[in-house]
Amino acid sequence: MLISPKKALGIVLRRVRPLKVLPKPLAEATGYCLAEDVRADRDQPAADRSAMDGFAVRAADIAKCPCVLKLTGEVAAGSPARRSLRPGTCMRILTGANIPPDADAVVRLEQTTETKASVLFQNVVGAGANIRRQGEEAKKGKLLVKKGTVLGAAQIGLAGSVGKDKLRVYGRARVAVLCTGEELRSVSDRVRLYEIRDSNGPALCSALTGLGYGDVTHRVVGDNPKAVAAKVKRLADKHEVIIISGGVSVGKYDFVPEALKQIGASIHFHGVAIRPGKPQLYATLNKNRHIFGLPGNPLSVMVGFFEFVLPGLRRMSGLEPTRCQPSLHLPLAAEVQSKLNLVRFVLARLIWNKEQLSVAPLKSHGSADLVAAGPADGVIIIPAKAGKVSVGAVVEFRPWRPLP
Ligand code: AMP
Ligand code: MG
Repeated sequence: MLISPKKALGIVLRRVRPLKVLPKPLAEATGYCLAEDVRADRDQPAADRSAMDGFAVRAADIAKCPCVLKLTGEVAAGSPARRSLRPGTCMRILTGANIPPDADAVVRLEQTTETKASVLFQNVVGAGANIRRQGEEAKKGKLLVKKGTVLGAAQIGLAGSVGKDKLRVYGRARVAVLCTGEELRSVSDRVRLYEIRDSNGPALCSALTGLGYGDVTHRVVGDNPKAVAAKVKRLADKHEVIIISGGVSVGKYDFVPEALKQIGASIHFHGVAIRPGKPQLYATLNKNRHIFGLPGNPLSVMVGFFEFVLPGLRRMSGLEPTRCQPSLHLPLAAEVQSKLNLVRFVLARLIWNKEQLSVAPLKSHGSADLVAAGPADGVIIIPAKAGKVSVGAVVEFRPWRPLP
């Protein structure tokens, strides 16, 4: 019985759970999902600061311009600025320096002329000019980065600015890739006419590594139910997620479902109404080990990974269910057709025009045609029985690689 991809995803997202929270050094937290709220440890800025290079003044002293004020000192960034500004004088001030007591404005350097020990002011400025007020960005205690946020450079910088040298984040799943098939040889092996190189292994490891799932275990096993069962069992000791390539269809040598039953795994779905990749399988072992069986054709493996495995991994990493399957909605650059009662995934390439990003379908000979994926950035998702989808129609696009 085939289920819809939406239903299949729902089943996965209901069964996976966010992993244990752990402290990460700030420099290693990029890409993780924050498991705590980050708040301002003091006002931001912590004191009134100059936004410009120029001169700190009392605005009232330059209410009638042009005028000249005596230059009595300097406050650079990093100096405590303890000395107060006497009436009728000014101090040189640099961007980011604290405003000296009794000064209430900064005049930009470009609007002044400095002579030996005094400064000529040409322009009147109001009190508060060019001053970043204490606490104007955030008062002490304000929420700056919310729990559940995926950490990027700006959030890491912000957390650093409030003194967080460690952040509590959700862990990431340990993932194993198990490629099944008697025909498989490793990339560096000699291949005979009836053999193929294992390309799904490198493809899955690459997708995972690129997404921050560092240390991926990769194994290959022949089409033997006992051997498959033993490998899965062993891999389940140290990995929350096992991705199996091949062996899940209806062929005589597709032993994965049988092997999973042998080790006591529960199969939650086997067969999704999609093309390519119909025989997708999802099972759990002891409730906390998640096993994805992807039909071995290279494009089926890619579809299965991005449609079902990755959303599951993202949920385990702490993302909200609604954020686990990112896609773009883009105008179509060439017509596509589908009368099938299956959701179709059509290889596609992004077209970067100045005004508008769009997406163009690529031709392929079917799910075995990895060659067609050479120029692909991802897939267009065509709903079941869509009929003709015209140029300019907005379609859902699932990226398969990081956008430049
Ligand atoms: P299967 O799902 O086991 O019936 O495999 C379907 C087809 O996918 C096989 O005939 C192979 O051509 C191909 N295939 C299976 N495993 C891999 C792999 N690891 N790398 C590349 N192609 C594969
Ligand atoms: Mg096979």
